[in-house]
Amino acid sequence: MKITLGGAANGGATPVSTSIAPQSAVQPAPQPVAQNDVQDVVIVGSGPAGYTAAIYLGRAGYRPLVVAGALTPGGQLVNTTEVENFPGFPDGIMGPDLMDAMQRQAERFGARLVYDDVVSADLTGDVKTLTLDGGDVLRARAVVVTTGSRYRKLGVPGEEEFSGRGVSYCATCDGFFFRGKPIAVIGGGDSAFEEALFLSRFGSSVTIVHRRDEFRASAIMVERARQNEKIAFATNAVVERVNGGDDGATSLTLRDVVTGETTDLPAEGVFVAIGHTPSTGFLGGAVDLDDDGYIVVDGASTRASVAGVFAAGDVVDRTYRQAISAAGMGCRAALDAQAYLAGE
Ligand code: NAP
Repeated sequence: MKITLGGAANGGATPVSTSIAPQSAVQPAPQPVAQNDVQDVVIVGSGPAGYTAAIYLGRAGYRPLVVAGALTPGGQLVNTTEVENFPGFPDGIMGPDLMDAMQRQAERFGARLVYDDVVSADLTGDVKTLTLDGGDVLRARAVVVTTGSRYRKLGVPGEEEFSGRGVSYCATCDGFFFRGKPIAVIGGGDSAFEEALFLSRFGSSVTIVHRRDEFRASAIMVERARQNEKIAFATNAVVERVNGGDDGATSLTLRDVVTGETTDLPAEGVFVAIGHTPSTGFLGGAVDLDDDGYIVVDGASTRASVAGVFAAGDVVDRTYRQAISAAGMGCRAALDAQAYLAGE
C-alpha cells in the first residue's frame, strides 16, 4: 500500500506523489509508507497542537506521521489574518505564515505529512488502526489526536440555501466578494469582531449581530470596532432566517429577544462566527467524549480514555482555545506519548 502525500511545495492542496517527500535538504530520500508498517506514532491534525507534537516527537527520534487533512491543512490559523498574540512575533505574523513555519519546523525533525482525513479508528490494543478517506489504513503504537474544531452553524432557514451565495464562515476567504455591499457578522466573540474589522475594508457597512448586549470578545477588539465608522451593532438580536433570491442573500430577518419585534437587516454578505464544534466524529466512540463531543483526558495530562491515545488543542480544550495554548498542549501530548512509547 502507498499513502499519497503532498508537500509545502504545492501548498498542501493537491496530493502530488506516492511517497513521503521531505521538505528539507537534511531529510533522507523519500520512503513509501507501507500499510503493514507499524508507525511509532501518528498525529491526526495539523494545527498548532499537531505541529508542536510533531516537532517534539520528531526531535525525540520517532519520525511521526502527521495526517494533516485533505482540504484544510494547518487548521484554523490558515483562515486568519494577522496573529498579534503568539509570543515571539512582536510585529505580529500572518496566520498562514505561522502555520507554514510550524510545518517546516516539524519536517526539519523528520515529521512526514499525509494530506488526507481519518474517517474511522480502531484504538483498542497495542497497535491502533486509522482508516483514511482515500481508503488507506495506517497502523501505529500511539495516536495523538489534534483535530481541532469546525465552524458552528446557526441552523436557521436560508443558511444552507445561501451558503456560498452570501453566507460564509470565513471572512478572509470570502470578504473580497462583498466589496461595496452591506455585510452582517453574527456572534459576539473575538472571531466575530476580528471578522467585522477585516470586512470593514470591503463592505459598505458591517453590522455585528449578537444575541446579548454584552460581548464575549476582548475589550481591545470591541473598542477597535466601536471606533470603526463602518461598523454598527444589532444587540439582543437573533437571526430568524436568511433571505435572498437567485443572486444570493439579500437580508436577515432579526428578532429582538427583549421586545419580540422582527426587522429586516439588509445583508448581501452574512458571516457566521459563533464558535466551533470539536472535530471528533471520526472517532466513533473509540475514546470517551463529553456531552459536547470534546475528548475527555485524564486530569492535567493529555491521556485519553484508551491507553496509547493522546489528545491536545481545541479538540479537548473548550476554555482557552488559543493557538499558543494548543501548541503548549501539543508539547504535553508529545511528552506523554514519548513516556508511553518508552514503556514508562
Ligand atoms: P466564542 O468565544 O465561543 O464566541 C462565540 C460567540 O457566538 C459568542 O458571543 C456566542 O454568544 C455566540 N453564539 C454561540 N452560539 C450562537 C448561536 N447559536 N446563535 C447566536 N450566537 C451564538 O468563539 P470565537 O469567537 O470563535 O472564539 C474562540 C476562541 O478563539 C476564543 O477563546 C477567542 O478569544 C479566540 N480568538 C482569538 C482571536 C484573537 O485574539 N485575535 C481571534 C479569534 C478567536 P454568547 O456570548 O451569548 O455565548
